Amino acid sequence: MHPTTRRSTHFPVPPSARLLLVLALLFASTISVAIAQSAATPDASPVADAGVASEPFGEVEGHPVERYTLTNANGMQVSILTWGATVQSIMVPDRDGAMANVALGFDNLDDYVSMSPYFGSIVGRYANRIAEGQFTLEGETYQLAINNDPNTLHGGDKGFDKQIWTAAEVEGDGGPALEFSRTSPDGEEGYPGTLEVSVTYTLTGSNELRIEYAATTDAPTVINLSNHTYFNLAGEGSGNIYGHELQLNASHFTPVDATLIPTGEIAPVAGTAFDFTNPRPIGDGIRDASSEQILIGLGYDHNFVLDRESPDDTSLIEAARVTDPSTGRVMTVTTTEPGVQFYSGNFLNGAFGGPSGQAYRQGDGFCLETQHFPDSPNQPDFPTTELRPGEKFTSTTVYAFSTD
Ligand code: BGC
Repeated sequence: MHPTTRRSTHFPVPPSARLLLVLALLFASTISVAIAQSAATPDASPVADAGVASEPFGEVEGHPVERYTLTNANGMQVSILTWGATVQSIMVPDRDGAMANVALGFDNLDDYVSMSPYFGSIVGRYANRIAEGQFTLEGETYQLAINNDPNTLHGGDKGFDKQIWTAAEVEGDGGPALEFSRTSPDGEEGYPGTLEVSVTYTLTGSNELRIEYAATTDAPTVINLSNHTYFNLAGEGSGNIYGHELQLNASHFTPVDATLIPTGEIAPVAGTAFDFTNPRPIGDGIRDASSEQILIGLGYDHNFVLDRESPDDTSLIEAARVTDPSTGRVMTVTTTEPGVQFYSGNFLNGAFGGPSGQAYRQGDGFCLETQHFPDSPNQPDFPTTELRPGEKFTSTTVYAFSTD
């Protein structure tokens, strides 16, 4: 089915000025589209209309799921499903202007529902692990689902990634935008408090995918939200990401026990396989059999502590920069969060594949999940993840794409 494109004008204009404005806009958009075409897609078909399009993407238990596509004036496109508020694909140019989808995913809903390892989805109410699925808040102990034995992972059996979100087109700052929202009822997956949560995706004219999270609660609870996109800057299905060069703005990380729960230590990365303070190929440290931490994670599956000026600093800072030397694609990640989980796709096992038709094998994608630290509800020295009535949870992460 062909997507329907909807556009809205957000500013009132007196009739006398309308003709001039329309002519000026037409001229400006013709010029910018022409520039974008010559810079980004010299040989490709004409750039699709900038804006938001939507189309049906199947049903889950009789409930319809939609796919929305954001397009900017450069022809960059991001598709997002109402299932899990999931980023399904990210089409960006390489250094020669050739477009490719740099996000792992599926071309059909059934695969998302039956086997997705959180491809592109919003993970919550608590992204990452909580030890033994248990925490105590204001004297009450809460037991969550143990869906990653012996711990809870990414919100439990039916986390935010397995829910249908309500999508609405909103006025974006710098490009087309969509807000996904839902109410997580009190007691959902064992978490206390009714949570009103929204995630706004904006695709800016500078090829940035901005993700803004917001939430409020009616009772004390814990919250940690992230996006779980697996990236491969050479294009999904093109092989492993071990040649990508990664730089992390983190001189410490949180080592884990055998079940991937932080030990509580904030350890320096200097002199270890975890030192990405200077750009370095991802594959370099991954075979370091002398690193117990690498062996436990089967590669990288660790939270890095971002270098901030103070523990209270929540400004938007650069967390990571990744370059793919083969295509020249570069991605930077900026965030207001204190940490980032760098996961090198260790559990991809070749059992499924994406739109390219290639099976995804170990290391064929990487995640940079901006977040509060794993198991914070049980770790008093970690930044708090508690949210109380009257407070507003906010968090912003920007994935920006360019070429070298
Ligand atoms: C976790 C991995 C887990 C993966 C699931 C990551 O965020 O850190 O341990 O296997 O999500 O796909």
